[in-house]
Amino acid sequence: MSSAPLTFPLPWQQRQWQRLTGLVAQQRLPHAVILSGSEGCGKSGFVEALVGYLLCCAPQIAAEGVAIPCGQCDSCRFMAAGNHTDLVWLQPQSKAEEERSKGYLDVGMVRREIDPQREISVNGVRELIDFLGLSARLGRGKVAVLLHSERLNYNAANALLKTLEEPSASATLFLVTSEPDRLLPTIRSRCQHYTLQLDSDALAQAAAWLQLQSGATATVVADALLLAADAPLKALAYLEADRAAAITAYVDTLLALREQRLNPLAVAADWSAKGGEPHLGWFYLLMLAVTRQRFTQGQVVGQLTPQLQASLATVAAVPWFGFTEKLQLTIERWPQRRANRQLLLEELLLSWQYL
Ligand SMILES: [Zn+2]
Repeated sequence: MSSAPLTFPLPWQQRQWQRLTGLVAQQRLPHAVILSGSEGCGKSGFVEALVGYLLCCAPQIAAEGVAIPCGQCDSCRFMAAGNHTDLVWLQPQSKAEEERSKGYLDVGMVRREIDPQREISVNGVRELIDFLGLSARLGRGKVAVLLHSERLNYNAANALLKTLEEPSASATLFLVTSEPDRLLPTIRSRCQHYTLQLDSDALAQAAAWLQLQSGATATVVADALLLAADAPLKALAYLEADRAAAITAYVDTLLALREQRLNPLAVAADWSAKGGEPHLGWFYLLMLAVTRQRFTQGQVVGQLTPQLQASLATVAAVPWFGFTEKLQLTIERWPQRRANRQLLLEELLLSWQYL
């Protein structure tokens, strides 16, 4: 498996890269930009590359007309070292993290898992506004990137709104998010929205790239992409952690249940003994794909969905949709039902077996 560092923009991001670097070159990039796309589609790497281009003192045109930063100037050197003085990152933090970093803003790029409970606080936004008010050291303006910007709490969002209403000419703000609908409408209306969500052409490019990166077959890649909800970097993480085997084993269990080779109560007991969420998200994505294939002639990819399709061949529409609803409800109830998750799973797997 390859572990070479990724170079952004990634193949499926070329169209948006051309569009946004074109706006930078014409000095028409809006002062506030929302960049959205599902978790694992490559948003933070894309924004880092775009900021590098925006701040570069001598941007260039490489082969095939692709705009790139020069890689030589002071700005590019600061970017590469992760300590550009005209750029800050703000992301959800806990109190302990704030104390460790002696503030809310990160200089340079920090790639880490974000606790889903964390928010972006008003103090962080105030620090960011102060930062944007200082003059730019390298004369290319100042940039702030808010990662997981849907986690701005109410006060933080309102503080940010003031900055968006009276933008400084030399400051650019990127709000990166996988859930743009969770941003306040007043914030959304003051930003230009660009999406990195993959269309079918981009997905085909991503699949080819994943095969190259992981050495996996087209079939295995198709299954990994399906279970990563079409997010290529998430799919790559599955392939590199050899989760393809885990995914196959998971589907084998589902098939064995259908064929009554396994007892649903025993599987429910096993899954709840292991703790954690028993990949119900995978189950849901698989059901979504087989539902599309069955009822809307959706494209068949990979080898997992054809196996499930065969197993569900005789199931009529009404019980089929009844089951998908039950699955959805199980996923919704999962976080609150710590005490009787086994019961929840028993009910789900019994319905699956007798569907
Ligand atoms: Zn440069």
